[in-house]
Amino acid sequence: MPALWLAFLNDTIYNGGTETQFEKQEGMDMARFDALVVGAGFAGAVTARRLAEEGGKRVLVLERRDHVGGNAYDCPDNAGILIHQYGPHIFHTNSKRVFDYLSRFTQWLPYQHKVVANIPDGKGGRMQYPVPFNLTSLETAFGPGEGKRLGEKLIAAYGEEKKVTILELRQNPDPEIAALADYVYEHVFVHYTMKQWGQKPEEIDPNTTARVPVFLSRDERYFQDTYQGMPEKGYTPLFEHMLDHPNITVETGCDALERLGLKDGVIRLDGEVFEGPVIYSGQADELFAFQFGPLPYRTLDFGFETLAQDYFQSHGTVNYTVDEPYTRITEFKRLTGQEKAGVTTIMKEYSKAYTGDNGEIPYYAIINEANNALYAKYKAEADKFPGLHLLGRLAEYKYYNMDAIALRALELADRLLEK
Ligand SMILES: Cc1cc2nc3c(=O)[nH]c(=O)nc-3n(C[C@H](O)[C@H](O)[C@H](O)COP(=O)(O)OP(=O)(O)OC[C@H]3O[C@@H](n4cnc5c(N)ncnc54)[C@H](O)[C@@H]3O)c2cc1C
Repeated sequence: MPALWLAFLNDTIYNGGTETQFEKQEGMDMARFDALVVGAGFAGAVTARRLAEEGGKRVLVLERRDHVGGNAYDCPDNAGILIHQYGPHIFHTNSKRVFDYLSRFTQWLPYQHKVVANIPDGKGGRMQYPVPFNLTSLETAFGPGEGKRLGEKLIAAYGEEKKVTILELRQNPDPEIAALADYVYEHVFVHYTMKQWGQKPEEIDPNTTARVPVFLSRDERYFQDTYQGMPEKGYTPLFEHMLDHPNITVETGCDALERLGLKDGVIRLDGEVFEGPVIYSGQADELFAFQFGPLPYRTLDFGFETLAQDYFQSHGTVNYTVDEPYTRITEFKRLTGQEKAGVTTIMKEYSKAYTGDNGEIPYYAIINEANNALYAKYKAEADKFPGLHLLGRLAEYKYYNMDAIALRALELADRLLEK
């Protein structure tokens, strides 16, 4: 039974984690809505808030899952550790507009993401070094003396603080520098990519390989963006705040496709013609009953483990770039700064092909020419409905970081508010 919750959430839920208030309304009059938003992730929530607040529109948000937040959703697990249910999410952006907008709904904890690769050291043990591969990685991989010498050589050739791609290194006439490119390709890139995308080495796009950087720096941060952090109380409270507006009604546990009809350029909601804008952030192929065939995706299996120890690993994320069947292990306490003695939760991430089976979530669009062409057919269908706006990682068949999709949502709202 869908749970319908109106936007009357009281402040205690953001501050103390008490139960969200649900309010159920039978026989709701759909004619009282001016805009429909499908999906309560960043695409849907940002658009809904702006249309409601700045446009005075009465907005209905339909969300298939039993919670808001889309893939950024987080919640405490049984051990009381705040986990990211759909994979680790680290906020980072260079967009002041996005940062300022989201900051209306959350405070931020300072957090700078650092990632290490964990690989066999060739002597029966393991070693860890920063990725992107940098001057520190060089010294760990080749030993302090040799690593320093190679680092100086690279700096002399390319300059300090520069990001140099593998391709550029390979083109260097100095055989030592070219060999270094091969080392990074083998130990940081190729096996990881094969696990992530299920590819054989020969299937890996050389253009992608070419972009793998070596960072001639001691800066170990994974991102160099101006604004970085974690929402102080988590992503879910951020979304609850954003959707908490008298003009917004959120219905969770509701599949919009059971309520929407699209035919001959006309959109119907619960059988009635709906003339307001429809912002759809679900899968484009599913919206049109897969009529041209399904769009291919990669999905992920997450293996959560709760351990009776303070911490498991040195960093929020450790990548397994050479061996192990998983791509990475995340330790949530390291990301969120949560302090809890004697217990921690980790998550192993396994990538596999998406088959569309029940319960599988399409996570990553597989971008290539054939798939883009297939997507274009669905987009052309969508364009036959003037009120329909495809927005988001699924609806647009793209990979977006959170800030990028938040920006697109702000920009779509700009256009809709002009009308
Ligand atoms: C493993 C992983 C890690 C990531 N880490 C980061 C990170 O560290 N930093 C970062 O910036 N970004 C990260 N991202 C990207 C981030 O998840 C996306 O940018 C963001 O989720 C996109 O928001 P969205 O609203 O487009 O999609 P979603 O968050 O997927 O929201 C779409 C919503 O629509 C709902 N929906 C779909 N169909 C229907 C329907 N028929 N009816 C009702 N509801 C429907 C879905 O249930 C979903 O809740 C990561 C992504 C993944 C997969």
